[in-house]
Amino acid sequence: MADLLKVAVPKGRIVKHISRLFHQAGIPIPEDLDETRKFIIPAHDLGLEFIIAKPADVPTYVEYGVADIGVVGKDVLMEENRNVYELLDLGIAKCRFSVIGLPDWEPVLNPRVASKFPNVASQYFRENGQQVEVIKLNGNVELAPLIGLADRIVDLVETGNTIRENGLVEMEKIADITSRLIANRVSYRMKNEAIQQLCDRLQQVLA
Ligand code: AMP
Repeated sequence: MADLLKVAVPKGRIVKHISRLFHQAGIPIPEDLDETRKFIIPAHDLGLEFIIAKPADVPTYVEYGVADIGVVGKDVLMEENRNVYELLDLGIAKCRFSVIGLPDWEPVLNPRVASKFPNVASQYFRENGQQVEVIKLNGNVELAPLIGLADRIVDLVETGNTIRENGLVEMEKIADITSRLIANRVSYRMKNEAIQQLCDRLQQVLA
C-alpha cells in the first residue's frame, strides 16, 4: 500500500472531464466520483486512491503532501500560489479569466472590483497600473455590478451565458484557463516512476 498514489480531485463540473480523460488513458477511475458522499475513494487495483476536495483546497492538499498529485484549474493555481510542481496542461475545463462589467460603465477613481479571486484581480490591476479596491465574494459575483456593490468583476467565463443573461459584457481577458496536473515536490522525487507513468499515459491521449 505504501506506493499508492494519492490523487486529489475536485468535485463539480470538472469531474466528468477528468473521468473521460483518465478512461481514454486506460485508467478506469470510478465513474461515480461526483455522486458519492465519501471523501476517500480507493482504486487500489490501479495503485491509486482519490481524495475528493473543494477545488481551492486541491493545491493545499498537494503542497502539504497528503495528496501526491492533484487535478486543479489554473484559476485556482493563480489564486492560491502554492508551492507545487505543475506537470501537465490537461486541456480540459477550458474557460477564461475576464474583467466584466455593465455596458454603460464609466471609469471612476479607485473603482471597486468584486471577485472570488481577489489575488488574481489585485495582481492584474496592479500590473496594469490601475488602482482599484478589491472586494472578495464567495459566489454569484455577477450580481455585484447589478446591485451597485462593485463597478466591475473578475470572474471565469466559459460560454458567456451567465454574463449575457445578466446584461453584462466582457471588457478584458486576463488569461486562458485549463485544468492542470500538479504534484507534491517530495512525492515527485519519491514516487517518480508512478507519477511519470501516469503523466506519459495522459500525455499520449493529449497528443
Ligand atoms: P458561463 O455562463 O458558461 O460563461 O459560466 C460562467 C459561470 O460559471 C461563472 O459563474 C463562473 O464563475 C463559472 N465558471 C465558468 N467556468 C468555470 C470553471 N472552469 N470552473 C469553475 N467555475 C466556472
